[in-house]
Amino acid sequence: MTPFDTVVMVDWSGGNDTGPRPRKDAIWAGINRCGVAEAPVYLRNRAVAESWLAELFSAERAAGRRVLAGFDFPFGYPAGFARALTGSDDPLGLWDWFEKRIVDSPSANNRFDLAGHINLTHGDGKGPFWFNGLRRDVEGLARTKKGYKNPFPEKRQSETLATGAFTCWQMGGTGAVGGQVFTGLPVLSRLRRQFHASVWPFEPLESDIAFVEIWPSLTAGPAPDDQIKDAWQVSEISRQISSLKVDDLARILAVDAPEEGWIFGLGCEGDLTGTPALRNDCFALPPGVYWTPVQDALDLLKDRLAPVTASHTLSLEQALGRVASADVRANRANPPLPNTAVDGYGFAGGKAAGPHAMPLTEGRAAAGDTPGALPPDHAIRVLTGAALPQGVDTVVLQEDVIVDGKTLRFSGPVKQGANTRKAGEDVAAGDIIVRKGRRITPADQALLAATGVSKLAVRAPLRVGVLSTGDELRDVGTTAEPGQIYDANRPMLLSLISQFGHVPLDLGRAPDDRAALRALLDKGAAQVDAILTSGGASAGDEDHVSALLQEAGAMDLWRIAIKPGRPLALGMWQGTPVFGLPGNPVAAMVCSLVFARPALEVLAGAVWPEPQGFEVPAAFSKSKKAGRREYLRARMRDGRAEAFASEGSGRISGLSWAEGLVELPEPAMTIAPGDPVRFIPYASFGMRA
Ligand code: AMP
Ligand code: MG
Repeated sequence: MTPFDTVVMVDWSGGNDTGPRPRKDAIWAGINRCGVAEAPVYLRNRAVAESWLAELFSAERAAGRRVLAGFDFPFGYPAGFARALTGSDDPLGLWDWFEKRIVDSPSANNRFDLAGHINLTHGDGKGPFWFNGLRRDVEGLARTKKGYKNPFPEKRQSETLATGAFTCWQMGGTGAVGGQVFTGLPVLSRLRRQFHASVWPFEPLESDIAFVEIWPSLTAGPAPDDQIKDAWQVSEISRQISSLKVDDLARILAVDAPEEGWIFGLGCEGDLTGTPALRNDCFALPPGVYWTPVQDALDLLKDRLAPVTASHTLSLEQALGRVASADVRANRANPPLPNTAVDGYGFAGGKAAGPHAMPLTEGRAAAGDTPGALPPDHAIRVLTGAALPQGVDTVVLQEDVIVDGKTLRFSGPVKQGANTRKAGEDVAAGDIIVRKGRRITPADQALLAATGVSKLAVRAPLRVGVLSTGDELRDVGTTAEPGQIYDANRPMLLSLISQFGHVPLDLGRAPDDRAALRALLDKGAAQVDAILTSGGASAGDEDHVSALLQEAGAMDLWRIAIKPGRPLALGMWQGTPVFGLPGNPVAAMVCSLVFARPALEVLAGAVWPEPQGFEVPAAFSKSKKAGRREYLRARMRDGRAEAFASEGSGRISGLSWAEGLVELPEPAMTIAPGDPVRFIPYASFGMRA
């Protein structure tokens, strides 16, 4: 989540009081506090909204929470307007200018008169403002755009980029924002003064209360049918903003628009739309389940998780390993024209059995040549890859012919179309060549290039934080007392993350202490899209990961019927999913491969990966109890799967000895050498040598 604890997004209205019953076109506020969404708030008029905001700001400040407040109207006008009215380019001076002149009440205000007045004093009565929403005429303010003349730029720079945004000169009519600016800026001007709030992008955001300009249509998307659009949009925007990570927020805030202001997120839309739509209860298990079978746990994860990463366009060369965020279609057929698959001689039509002689035409067709035309009943020399000249649809291999001066001799039969490739026989233009959710491989890059696709939309890499817990742990490279052990999980998990194709972030190590662990989780939630912890995930006294997640109200202890592995603690920490892995390195790695890997792939926007296993004869014997799925550390030798001698879950050497896992299903079984078992190479889990 962001460095702002409370995010409140307001859909303003320039209209009059809309009554006590919640309805559209009123003022709506969407709130998200510490990553938890609250029901949207209906504010029937501007006076109510102003006092509600003031109360909210006071309460949040008193509780030590930083507030980011967004409002859906321009914070500035096109360049030059502030100076014309106030003598200064400072947009905040303009806020005060409006505050002094706007007279507003729940049932009426003087905005149209003020617009007319500005038109008369700063234009020639024909602009910059237009649209009079009153019955009576207003001097200087036209009802329509007829005869309109604007001495100022029509749009702010940001509005030229935000397609569909209205100009602030239109004072009324569906979708217009002119009236909202006139009635909104005075309110913000007062609140800013009262709370010493910082206004973006005009001031550094130093205060604990910050105002930003938003335009919900930029990233909110359509509202569900059964919800009031304004209410839904402000909730959605506050959710998007509250789940931004520190770096993403910093990128969005880094704009330079000191006079006109800017729309929050403009140019960084993917960062907002890519924020997690994961529910706080997304890891809740069905009630009454005690031991969850592995497959049920996987199905639950598959079902509950969704992509959380932003999307952007990269060149084909940069896209290796990235996840396609949309289907990609071929720009061009492969091959683009019919061509020859061999070096030989081309002519029209198949030839019957028996000897043939054909006149050879001058010249040849080589790869890259623009195809010419062949005289009827002639043959022509063709080289591999050459587009077939017009009149050629069949090629005979050069090894099968005799060239006798200007005559080509060979024996039939030769089938029509022999040794040629049809245009588009591999890929037709418009075919989907890379599906959404696929990680781009070198082979995909060849296909993209061949079909003329030089750019594609891909997901930003998933950022995954790793932390270890346990009083007994020390970092390798430092001294460890007897009784202490080196942290083996963190290096392993960080490397697994990067081999899975994500960006790892080392969040460090916490002792068995709730405050320290809380600090690491806070740090992680602000910076990464998902967190892997190891240790402390059970329900014992020192199991602080599970205790903290439980306290955050968003955790479930998944007792999964798997060996090796103790419970997994899955939960949300300030809107960021946390996978609490067992502390035991063997269990931590197996659970990472089996559960965390596919779950992280989905968060990264990739399709759920099913590890590819192979049925092979066992080289070991074992008798297995019923009730849980088991994974043995294993490797292939001489076509048989060997299992590591000890199943002890502290045996890290076995992890390293193994090259994959043998997966044994839930029922009881006795395995003798030669019996079929399922071997899954580490590589099938995304782990490379
Ligand atoms: P826990 O789940 O915290 O009870 O830990 C289970 C076992 O795994 C204990 O023996 C821990 O000492 C060990 N363990 C926990 N974390 C690590 C780690 N990062 N590296 C090596 N061993 C660990
Ligand atoms: Mg521990």
